[in-house]
Amino acid sequence: MTGTTITDDLLVVDRLEVVYNRAVRAVNGMSLRINAGEIVALVGPNGAGKTTTLRAISGFAAHEHARVTAGSVRFGGRDVTQLRPEKRARLGIGIVPEVGKIFERLTVGEHIRAMLSWSDRIRVDEVLAMFPRLRERSGKLAGLLSGGERQMLAIAITLSRQPSVLLIDELSLGLAPKVVDELMEKLVEIRRSAKVAIVLVEQNVDRALEVADRCYMVAAGRVIVEEPAAALRGRPDVWALLLGQDIGHHA
Ligand code: ATP
Repeated sequence: MTGTTITDDLLVVDRLEVVYNRAVRAVNGMSLRINAGEIVALVGPNGAGKTTTLRAISGFAAHEHARVTAGSVRFGGRDVTQLRPEKRARLGIGIVPEVGKIFERLTVGEHIRAMLSWSDRIRVDEVLAMFPRLRERSGKLAGLLSGGERQMLAIAITLSRQPSVLLIDELSLGLAPKVVDELMEKLVEIRRSAKVAIVLVEQNVDRALEVADRCYMVAAGRVIVEEPAAALRGRPDVWALLLGQDIGHHA
């Protein structure tokens, strides 16, 4: 890629290749375009390269002994493929940490404050205003939160840095259907109020399609289908066929 293309897209992944340990090619020609404020679902079978793609976008691939061997990641028109994760975070790429990475002995409020500089302290209230459930529990230890509340906290922490794109891996994992509903509704609300784009990696294809604007189906490290989510919504027969298998949880 020459780097001269002018585009309105917020995030452009172009023919990306990512190799683990100089041996396993996990992403093999992945190309994605995410517009500002859009919710995009990335779905596909286990091992398709979804998590690795998010790592390559956020810059954390190197931490997992993975290297981008070809292609590029552009954000806001800038080539960020080789930037360190903290620089990308400052530019507005927000990866939601896995819930397991929450510090059990910090309170909800302490987690969010820890992410902000002193001059930004006022934003704790702003962030918590988006999550009334967390605000009620702001003095509670994170280790005592439910699974859904932990996911909300992970999202709130990332939002406190005012990203323009949120990368979320497996929001629904291990959560009851009702909790997943609540979280998905929250994403739609966040997109509107925080004006962020969201890339949602999900095993739960049905749920992802309910909130997404567009959907990329991936297999073997690349996109096999790109469709408006509305074209696939409520059609597990169609997407299962496209993916060559049924990977959904039909709640
Ligand atoms: P899942 O839904 O199972 O998480 P995925 O689509 O997110 O799947 P990845 O986790 O990106 O897929 O995995 C893609 C390939 O890369 C797989 O073959 C996987 O075994 C390999 N892989 C993933 N993480 C690592 C790692 N840390 N070290 C080595 N290989 C890895």
